[in-house]
Amino acid sequence: MKGFYTPRNHPIRWLLIHWFRTDARDLPWRRTRDPYAIWVSETMLQQTRVEQCIPYFERFMAAFPTVHALAEATLDRVLKVWEGLGYYTRARNLHRAAQIIAHDRHGNFPRDVEGWQALPGVGRYTAGAVTSIAFDVCAPVLDGNVKRVLTRVFNIAEPPDDARVEQRLWELAASLASRHPHPGEFNQALMELGAQTCLPAAPRCPTCPAWHYCKARLLGIQDHLPVSKPKKSVPHYDIVVAAIKKRGRYLIGKRPLSGLLGGLWEFPGGKVQPGESHEQALQRELKEELGITIKVGKLLAVVNHAYSHFKVTLHVFQCCHLSGKPRPNIHTELRWAAPREFSELAFPKANLKFLPLL
Ligand code: SF4
Repeated sequence: MKGFYTPRNHPIRWLLIHWFRTDARDLPWRRTRDPYAIWVSETMLQQTRVEQCIPYFERFMAAFPTVHALAEATLDRVLKVWEGLGYYTRARNLHRAAQIIAHDRHGNFPRDVEGWQALPGVGRYTAGAVTSIAFDVCAPVLDGNVKRVLTRVFNIAEPPDDARVEQRLWELAASLASRHPHPGEFNQALMELGAQTCLPAAPRCPTCPAWHYCKARLLGIQDHLPVSKPKKSVPHYDIVVAAIKKRGRYLIGKRPLSGLLGGLWEFPGGKVQPGESHEQALQRELKEELGITIKVGKLLAVVNHAYSHFKVTLHVFQCCHLSGKPRPNIHTELRWAAPREFSELAFPKANLKFLPLL
């Protein structure tokens, strides 16, 4: 009888499998059970849409077809192949974890959740996804899509990102996957349902395999779930950037490995402080950052870019180096690079937007 199911005997455990086998999208990482390929794809898919990931996944796997190839590559090369996908900590952690697997574990991938979670950058979600898909471990997954499906099917009218509610959703996902003969397929089906059918706005309920068992749909409240927390406003910063050219080369610096955009190359500059003109801000930043004085020339470009927690507007100026030998105060390395070298160096996406103008 409807309503008397527990997660462990819930009909969606099977209905979703049948639906997934006939209706799921054919994605490159679904054609394999290679834990390396699945791990790469799951890492890329965090905070990135499937369509955007596909070309990056194919390029990454062509460049580094095995965990050994990734472990032996330089970090610069890995960041270059990752360039444009954002959240570069993922690439750095993938590289470090590949070295641990290749060297410390002699190429053997962990086969349980705990083993995966011991690797840099691997959280509960990725560990659950890789072990269930590659090794049939009955481990749960919980991403934004799964949260939406579960809050609707089980009518959970509280914000799923609230820590207590999230814990409850993990337990629910674990019970559904528990002793499932096909946990990897079931987990993928849950995620696919959220991505393709149980959409945030206007869920496609009439085509949904959970139609008969979805409490939100039965109550007619599916459009009101999941409940969201009030949104915080996103800060915006004006950033000035110096394109300092000398004998056909531009001065660029490499960001420290820890922190935002770590290990990427960038043009020097920084935030405009209240009451400063762009010219004053640039002269101050270059003095603090590199110990040099500059003459600020014409505005070359204005670029808008959104990061996950803030937005920036870059004001890029042509600049002339007047005095002082550039010293790396906040960068780990400085260099004068010719425009033809830009294609071999990894830059943040906001910098890539104005590179063609130089
Ligand atoms: S019936 Fe509708 S609301 Fe419920 S899981 Fe399916 S698509 Fe989502």
